[in-house]
Amino acid sequence: MDVKTNATLDLGGKTVVITGASRGIGAETARRMAAAGARVVVNYHGSEAAANAVVKEIGDQAIAMRADVADPAAVKRLIEAVVTRFGSIDVLVNNAAIFEYNPFDGDDYEAWQNGWRRTFDLNVFAAANAAWLAMRAMRQSGGGKIINVASRAAWRGETEFADYGASKAALVNLTRSIARACAKDNIVASCVAPGFIETEMAKPELEAHREEILSQIPLRRVGSVGDVAGVILFLASPMADYLNGVTIDINGGSWFQ
Ligand code: NAP
Repeated sequence: MDVKTNATLDLGGKTVVITGASRGIGAETARRMAAAGARVVVNYHGSEAAANAVVKEIGDQAIAMRADVADPAAVKRLIEAVVTRFGSIDVLVNNAAIFEYNPFDGDDYEAWQNGWRRTFDLNVFAAANAAWLAMRAMRQSGGGKIINVASRAAWRGETEFADYGASKAALVNLTRSIARACAKDNIVASCVAPGFIETEMAKPELEAHREEILSQIPLRRVGSVGDVAGVILFLASPMADYLNGVTIDINGGSWFQ
């Protein structure tokens, strides 16, 4: 075994696609991957200016690509565009997601159904579709890694965001299925399950319940985007090559399985 190759975070020559990288955890993951030498595709849907700002900050190694990954045709165009441009995909990070209030005791049945549909279209189906499509390129280039961004909600359930919790549990399971089915093609999968992280997604909950949330975290601080992006970088790196099917909790000790 080449010790130097395996004991490094170096991603030189690798192409990394990160869905939902215009801000938050996805944007920081793009910065970290690029700092490790990777070419980075910064996918976004609505926030073009923010995505371009991330690319500008990173420099030549990054490119922004717009796609609503919840749309199966758009995610296909995205993956094809990456392969056309860079020849292969070495790492796919399924990060894009929504977190929308959808309580059990609401009174709008249509809204309840639409919430579940929207959530699963993006949080689950986009990840499964992007993985399926990226695998075709990965097989041709000798392998790759798929990293899914789940949540502590996968284990704990959610009181007012049940569709979100269920979608993240599905990602944990998708990770295991890819791990078992695709290792024969040298395609491995892993997953992270963050607790509360300081981003736009978590802002309303943090504003409303910060003290209560902090009281549940033994480290007594809400996670940063860097806390998550660092673990994703490790999973993408050669140091994690023998991890397959795992989900790593990143929650300051606020939940144990
Ligand atoms: P965020 O700040 O809301 O960012 C979400 C990103 O997803 C944005 O870049 C957004 O870009 C993109 N996006 C949304 N819809 C999209 C679509 N249809 N197609 C493509 N991109 C889309 O969220 P975050 O907090 O960084 O969350 C990142 C991941 O971590 C998510 O999977 C989330 O579930 C997970 N997570 C977050 C926390 C937390 O506390 N923050 C905790 C556990 C897990 P546009 O605006 O350009 O569409």
